[in-house]
Amino acid sequence: MTPLYEQHLHSLRRAFPAPVSDPVHDGYVVFSLLRTLDRVDALKSQAPILGVPRDPDYATAASASIPSQPATLEEIIPQLVHCLDGMLITGHPRSQVNVIAHPSIASIVGVVLPSMYNPNLCSDESGRGFSEAEVRVAAMTARLIGYDPAVSGGLFTFGGTGTLLYGVKVGLEKAFPGTRERGCGGQTTILCSDHSHYACLNVAGWLGIGQDNVVRVGTHRDNSIDVDALESAARETLGGGRRIAAIVATMGTTDAFGIDDLAAIHALRDRLALEFQLDYRPHIHADAVIGWAWSVFRDYDFAANPLGFRGRTVRALAAAANRINHLALADSLGVDFHKTGFAPYISSLFLLKRRDDFAALVRERSTMPYLYHTGQYHPGMFTLETSRSATGVMAALANLLLLGREGFRTLVGHAVEMAELLRELIVARPELSIVNDDNFGPVTLFRAYPSGTDTFVVKDREEHDPGYRDQLRRHNDLNRQIFQKVAAEALAGRGVAIGFTDNYRLSASSEPISALKSYVLSPFADPTQMQTVVAHVLTALRDAEG
Ligand SMILES: *Cc1c(COP(=O)(O)O)cnc(C)c1O
Repeated sequence: MTPLYEQHLHSLRRAFPAPVSDPVHDGYVVFSLLRTLDRVDALKSQAPILGVPRDPDYATAASASIPSQPATLEEIIPQLVHCLDGMLITGHPRSQVNVIAHPSIASIVGVVLPSMYNPNLCSDESGRGFSEAEVRVAAMTARLIGYDPAVSGGLFTFGGTGTLLYGVKVGLEKAFPGTRERGCGGQTTILCSDHSHYACLNVAGWLGIGQDNVVRVGTHRDNSIDVDALESAARETLGGGRRIAAIVATMGTTDAFGIDDLAAIHALRDRLALEFQLDYRPHIHADAVIGWAWSVFRDYDFAANPLGFRGRTVRALAAAANRINHLALADSLGVDFHKTGFAPYISSLFLLKRRDDFAALVRERSTMPYLYHTGQYHPGMFTLETSRSATGVMAALANLLLLGREGFRTLVGHAVEMAELLRELIVARPELSIVNDDNFGPVTLFRAYPSGTDTFVVKDREEHDPGYRDQLRRHNDLNRQIFQKVAAEALAGRGVAIGFTDNYRLSASSEPISALKSYVLSPFADPTQMQTVVAHVLTALRDAEG
């Protein structure tokens, strides 16, 4: 009998645009938009408002929880459209309340395309033609206002405030060169692991804390922070009379899916606050932008396993869930719906455990309008941004409604099931070896070795034996070659596009160790592609060996 999760998966796949040519299903995508707009149209009259005026019902909103079962697209569209009920039509000629654009059809198509194909302007590897478009618009605008596009440059950011932030930051660096590295005085630190995201460094640079004041402590083989090393680092900061701006717990590292022991970090923080008699509690931020999604397994019965995952998958999901279960111990956390929440960029949520902490960010201390249950909600009083887009909010809302906890469990579980299948195939090959074998997520980092290599001992030698440096470098080159071959094949329509990380971790003598990377997230992934990955890597290995 088909396991329950596969039955779910089958119907959930219909909720995504088809990854291959399927004009009938494309019709379903467009028709869903059409049905949505039909419903919006029903709210229209001659008045400059959709539906009837209504006050937001925050009491009901604040009592909401994620449905337990998946719903159909047809069922949730009315709920999404409901958000427009009572809204001013700002493009209406009789609505002239503020400087608000009425988006053109072209601009809407412009938003839809990246929403469907999800480029990341972070790098043109992902951005491709969209990156080109950014340069093009920057050049066009530069020319328009009289800059020389040959020497000017530009990028899009999170609003006019973002543009101002960039401007002042550049000015600060001119006036006080080196603030980005050294900060203003070195009186504070950020503590995190050497596998934390570079965003920790970036934030320290931008905030004037200084990148040099980010202490990146060591990690265990499972890529989680060494809590003893964290304790030493914290004691050094506190013992020197400095303050801890934040301890960042990485809950799902970017490359390897390492998960820090938040419970131990929390206990350490409380212990040190008492011992040093601190007049503040060092803030713990959980960087859970990847790992948050495993929270859907918090109430999953792993023993009964009603969704019918395979044994290896159950073990992997339970291992990750054991760590993710402690998320609520963090004072704040970050969630990227555009990472493991099946939403387009940008859809990032910052959550504070105690929303009163927002008071520290309020622009004018005399006004504290941050408590939305009093009937007024002006987040602009404490956000960094002034204008803020709702696309991320709506994308997240749509997916939470569509999938429910069971739908998320199905899709996340499926990704892990596929990763576990791949791991079985890799383990069965003497030329291949998994490097993040202590991590249990949708990402598999692995290396290929020349025939005759003893893959039982090679990883250990690469990591710990300084005399093995030349072989390590040669193996890095070999794996890069394999990656390039497999990537070229994939672009030519054969095989599967996989990733590559230049520096999965540093060896004991600070040599980068690279790895091939398979990150499975597509609901459409199936066992065939996992076999293809291994087959193409092995072919590329043989070619490279001549
Ligand atoms: C991706 C990532 C970030 C940065 O998030 P963006 O949404 O890309 O800005 C931070 N931390 C971790 C662990 C990440 O994987």
